[in-house]
Amino acid sequence: MVKAKKHYGQNFLNNKSILDKIIQAIPNSVKNIVEIGPGLGDLTQELLKISNVKSYEIDSDLIPILQNKFQKELECGRLNLIHKDASEVACLDEKKYFLVANLPYYIASHLILKVLEDENCSGLIVMVQKEMALKFCAKQGEKDFSALGVLSTVICDCEILFDVSPEYFSPPPKVMSAVIKMTKFREYKDFCHIDTFKRFLKECFKSPRKQLMGNLKNHKIELEKIFKELEIKLNSRAHEICVDSYLKIYERVKEDYERK
Ligand code: SAM
Repeated sequence: MVKAKKHYGQNFLNNKSILDKIIQAIPNSVKNIVEIGPGLGDLTQELLKISNVKSYEIDSDLIPILQNKFQKELECGRLNLIHKDASEVACLDEKKYFLVANLPYYIASHLILKVLEDENCSGLIVMVQKEMALKFCAKQGEKDFSALGVLSTVICDCEILFDVSPEYFSPPPKVMSAVIKMTKFREYKDFCHIDTFKRFLKECFKSPRKQLMGNLKNHKIELEKIFKELEIKLNSRAHEICVDSYLKIYERVKEDYERK
């Protein structure tokens, strides 16, 4: 019996019907899957039935368990098991891939943003904390709409597939979880320099209760003119304006952020 390690976010999924629902949601066109954190290999086993899989696992205690469980698949190359911290790998795969994972919650948002920036990633289905799922899939006007929502919906179709209660994990986490799906329809490089765009959004959502113009006060004189031209209400709060308006404002102010 393996003792789950809290610092690696180990909550092992123990329900077959949840695994089946994840598998059914994967597009038929997917030929190459990257998994982060195979754990005891239950999700990996189901993924291997439909695709080649490359799995990154940080915990050295789990590697021999996985090697033993997937001896055949490792030998024939159906599974590529990599003992590494996925957050430190520059390129998760050199081929086009789809990410499927029950992510370690302590670095879930970091990992999602990392793969969204990766041009080899065509989309993802991941289990995350419900609160995080709401943020990534939020739309304009919703209270959860934040920089994360802009960053995901600006390049992906995003949806929450279903919620998963703590009892379906061992040990049970303290929070509710949800499975989200993101399908990319373009890349950041098509319309922005991602580091600049992130800096811009960080400032936009700095104080969510304040008006957007207040959060961007370094640009106030220009901004009033820009907002009027784009027909954005001057007193809008950051969560109230749409992704398209963010892109238009960004286009007008980006040079200022590139200099910072
Ligand atoms: N996939 C398994 C499941 O569904 O039961 C395990 C999921 S568990 C929530 C998260 C897994 O990610 C653990 O196996 C943990 O050791 C692994 N992990 C945590 N941090 C990681 C990292 N930085 N890189 C790779 N794997 C990581």
